[in-house]
Amino acid sequence: MNYKIKCINLTLLIVFIHCLFLGMIFVPNGMQSTYILKENTPDSKLTTSNYDEFSKGNFTGYEFSSYNLSLYLNEDSSTVEGNLTVDFYNNDPVNFTQLPFHIYPSGMQFNTRAGNMDILNVTTVEEPRQQLDFEVFSGIQLMWVNLTSILQPTNRTSFIISFNTTLPDGGIDRANEHGWDYNDTRIFKFASAYPQPCVYDEYDGWNIDPYLLVGDPFYFDMAYYDLIINVPEEMKVAATGELLDNTTTAGRSILHYNPHLPVREATFSASRYFEIESYIIPGIDVNVSCYFLSKSNDLWHEFALDVAVDAFSLYHNTFGDYCYSTFNVVQEYTYYGGMEYPLQVYITESADYYTGSYGRDWYLESIIAHETAHQWFYSLLGVDEVDWGFLDEGIVCWVTDWYKDVYHPDWHIFEPYWGLQKVRQYSIEWGLPNKINQSVPECEISGTNYWYIGYTKANTVLEKLRQTLGHTAFINSLRLFFREFYFEIADLSDLVDMFEIITGDSLDWFFYPWFDNAYLPEYDITNAVFDLATNMLTFTIYDINEHLHQYTYSQLIPVQIYRQFSYLEYEELHWINGSTTLTIDVDQLPNRISLDYSDVKDFVLVQVPNYYIDYFETTNIAIIDSRIPGYDLLVIIFTLSLFAVIVIYKRNHTRIKK
Ligand SMILES: [Zn+2]
Repeated sequence: MNYKIKCINLTLLIVFIHCLFLGMIFVPNGMQSTYILKENTPDSKLTTSNYDEFSKGNFTGYEFSSYNLSLYLNEDSSTVEGNLTVDFYNNDPVNFTQLPFHIYPSGMQFNTRAGNMDILNVTTVEEPRQQLDFEVFSGIQLMWVNLTSILQPTNRTSFIISFNTTLPDGGIDRANEHGWDYNDTRIFKFASAYPQPCVYDEYDGWNIDPYLLVGDPFYFDMAYYDLIINVPEEMKVAATGELLDNTTTAGRSILHYNPHLPVREATFSASRYFEIESYIIPGIDVNVSCYFLSKSNDLWHEFALDVAVDAFSLYHNTFGDYCYSTFNVVQEYTYYGGMEYPLQVYITESADYYTGSYGRDWYLESIIAHETAHQWFYSLLGVDEVDWGFLDEGIVCWVTDWYKDVYHPDWHIFEPYWGLQKVRQYSIEWGLPNKINQSVPECEISGTNYWYIGYTKANTVLEKLRQTLGHTAFINSLRLFFREFYFEIADLSDLVDMFEIITGDSLDWFFYPWFDNAYLPEYDITNAVFDLATNMLTFTIYDINEHLHQYTYSQLIPVQIYRQFSYLEYEELHWINGSTTLTIDVDQLPNRISLDYSDVKDFVLVQVPNYYIDYFETTNIAIIDSRIPGYDLLVIIFTLSLFAVIVIYKRNHTRIKK
C-alpha cells in the first residue's frame, strides 16, 4: 500500500469513528410536554360547615367558653387594672387539671417603660371567694391556673383572674401608650394585654408559645366576650363589639361592649383626641367607624371610611357574611402598617408622613384594605399564626391586591405583578432558603425571612395558582375555604382540600413544590439536536436546582426558537416537570433556543442569573441527518476540515520531495 492510499484510509477511519461516537451521544430522549393532572384525592379533613346557622347568629346547641373582662384605665400610670372572669368550656377530648394563659406584655418592645402584667390573684367565682393556685413564668409570658378538680371533656370550670397591666411606652407592639397631651396625640392601646387563654390542639397539645417579635404570633379559639371599660369621661373609646351602655360617674365613663357572637379576642383603644366617623352599610347593617387623631384629619377624613366600607363590602359579598354589627378602623402608633383584631383593626399614624413613591393615600388605603381582609381570614376563619402565619397573611396580601384591582383597575396591580420580581430578587440577591410552609420559629432556625414568605412569596404563589386555575375557580375556592372553616381553625391542608374540591383535581403537584421547597427552580437546556431529515429539534429543559428540592416543580415555561438573524421561528408555552425533553417541528435550521420569562402574563417563578436578565438561552445545537447513520453537521465540517488539512499537507510534502 502506497503512502497516498494509507493517508486516505486513515482519514476515512477518523471520519467513521467520529461519526459513530458523536452519533451515539446525540440520541434524543423521550418527549413529554403537558402536565397530566392526577385524579382527585383530597385528604378530606372536612368539618361539617356551620356557615348557614352561624352566619345568621344561630349558635344553638354549640358550646363556647365565655370571658367577662372588666377594665379600669389609669391615665397617670398608663396601667389597666382588670378582672377576667373565666367560664372555660373543655371542647377537647382530654382531661385538664390546669389551664394556661398568655400574659404577653412583658415580651413587647418599649422605649423607657417595659410592658408587664402582674397577676394579683385567682379566685373562685362563688362567694365566699376561694384562692386558686397559679404559677407565672414571666420569661415565656405564661401563667397556669391549677384547677381544684379534674376538668373532663364537655365540662366547664369558672374562676376570676385579677391582674394589673402596665402598657409599654412607645414601642411598636400590640399594647402601648404613645403620644402626648400637649399636642393632642396621646393614645392608649390595650391589645393582647389581658390573660389570654391558650389553645389546645391535636398538633401541639397546649400552644404555649411565648410572645414573638416576628409575625403576629397569636392563636385563639372562639369564645363569648363581654367588656366593661372604665375610662376618664372625656376619652373616646373604640372597642370590640357594640356599645350597649354608657354611664358616667365621678368624672369617669363606664362603657359596656359586647360583640354578641363568639370572637377570638378583645381589644380597646382610648384617647381624648379621637375624631370619629361612622357609616352603616345598607343591606349589611354593619356600623363601620374610623377613629383618628385630628392631626391626621386631612388624610383620614372621609377617605379612610370610604376605603373601609369598600373593602368591607367586597369581602362580605365575595367570601361570606361578617355577621357582627360593628367594625372599627382605629389609628395607632406603630412602625408597621397595622394590626388585626376581631371587629377592630389598627392602622399606623405614620401614614401621615409616608413618602413612598405611590403616596400616602395609597399607603393608608393599602393598610386598611389589608387589615379589613383579616376579619375574614384570621378572625372568622381562624389560623394558628405561630405555626401557619404565612397562611392568613398570604391570602390577605393576595386579597388586598385583588381589592386594588377591583377598585383601581388603572393601577394594573396584577400586571406587572410586583411580587414576581420580588420573589426573583430574593432568590438572586439573598439566595436564602424560602420555604413557605414552616412555622415562625422554624423560619428563624432555617434562616428564612418570615416577612418575605408571608407577605411576598405566599401571595405571589397564590397569584400563580389563580393564573393556573382561572379567577372563578380561585375565588370559589377561597369562598369555600372561608365558609367551611367559619368560626373554626384551618391550616394549609384545609386550603388545599378546598381548591381540590372546586377544581375536581389533585393539586399536590402545585402545592407541595411551591409551598414546601426551599429554593426556586432554575432552568438550563441540554442535548439540543436538530435533525435535517425530519426538521425536528429535540432538547431537554432541566432544573439545575433539582437536587435542592423535596418536590419537583411543574410550570408552564415559554419556549422560543430562533433561526439566523434572530428570526423567531417558534414560540409556545410548555409544561416543564423537573427535567422535560421537548421535540419540536421547525421549518428552518435553528440557531438559538430561548426561555424568556419576561412576560408577566406567563408568571414564571424562577431563579434567574441576575436581576436584569430574565431569560435563559443556548446556541449549542447539534445538527444531524438521521437518513445518514452517524451524520452530524459539526462532525462533517470538522472531518472535512481535517481531510482538507491532510490533503494540503500531503501535496506540499510531495512537492518538497520532488
Ligand atoms: Zn396581615
